[in-house]
Amino acid sequence: MKHSNISIFIPHVGCPHTCSFCDQRTISGAQHLPDGDEVRRICAGALSEVKEPENTEIAFFGGSFTAVPRDYMTELLEAAHSFTGSGRFRGIRCSTRPDCIDEEVLDILRSYGVTAIELGAQSMNDEVLEANERGHSSADVERAAELIKAKGFELGLQMMTGLYKSSITSDEETAEKIIALRPDTVRIYPVVVLRGTKLAELYEEGVYEMIPFEEMVSMCSRIMLRFQENGIRVIKCGLHASEFVEKDMVAGYYHPAFRELCESEVYLSRLMEIADGCSLLRITVPAKEISKAVGHKKSNIERMKAMGTIVLIYPSPGEGIEIIERR
Ligand code: SF4
Repeated sequence: MKHSNISIFIPHVGCPHTCSFCDQRTISGAQHLPDGDEVRRICAGALSEVKEPENTEIAFFGGSFTAVPRDYMTELLEAAHSFTGSGRFRGIRCSTRPDCIDEEVLDILRSYGVTAIELGAQSMNDEVLEANERGHSSADVERAAELIKAKGFELGLQMMTGLYKSSITSDEETAEKIIALRPDTVRIYPVVVLRGTKLAELYEEGVYEMIPFEEMVSMCSRIMLRFQENGIRVIKCGLHASEFVEKDMVAGYYHPAFRELCESEVYLSRLMEIADGCSLLRITVPAKEISKAVGHKKSNIERMKAMGTIVLIYPSPGEGIEIIERR
């Protein structure tokens, strides 16, 4: 069953934090704050268009939903709540900071029909969190995650890879600590350095060194696999393709098909394992996964060839990889 969201962007206007990657100070003048009436209009419009509202959630994304003024938060929730329930949308989800979660706010969210909460953990390494001025610790993430689960909400955790002072080791450790918190979903955001941010300054001063793009893809593919092996749904890997990002990006790991690159990398590891040094490998893979198996611009076929294995891949109606010939 395909799940979808009606996304409503709530900017965190006047946020007192200065996260290294956030450009809210440079764009805050242009930010639009939707009110309850606008939420009602968006939901009513979507309800008449969405085919499976029972598999669709109203999602308040963009900032720290539980850190906006309380009256404003409840105005938005009240508007959205009237569009949930039988014959309407499945529920409401929101994203927020780990240090903006407590029992009181969770009880309010529950009373308005919120079902899923995503926390911007970003890293589980305190040195990285501090260097990027997140203003919260990894202990805050653990505390908030436990509280959200204890209250029966679906838990989502978001992590950023490649932040200032992070490393492949610290990012992979972050993924393992996130797995230990047993979230239902995760989002992986490889860092994108936007104009006007602290990261852009550090990058331009030459003190923020970034690993090559290919290494980032490779690491994110390993992280993605670890989440999937642990039954955690990866709902995003890489930023949405957007003109805004392309225009304001100074450096970082943006690719319009970042997730596909990672999924191809996962396939490459499997091909290498199966080939095990043979010179010809003929396999079938599920038809819907052919492009991932072949790789972006046939990169997997070329890389296998460079390692001495000719790989021929055919589509099959079944699940998983089947070997037709290996010699
Ligand atoms: S990313 Fe950081 S600075 Fe930006 S709105 Fe969120 S908490 Fe505030």
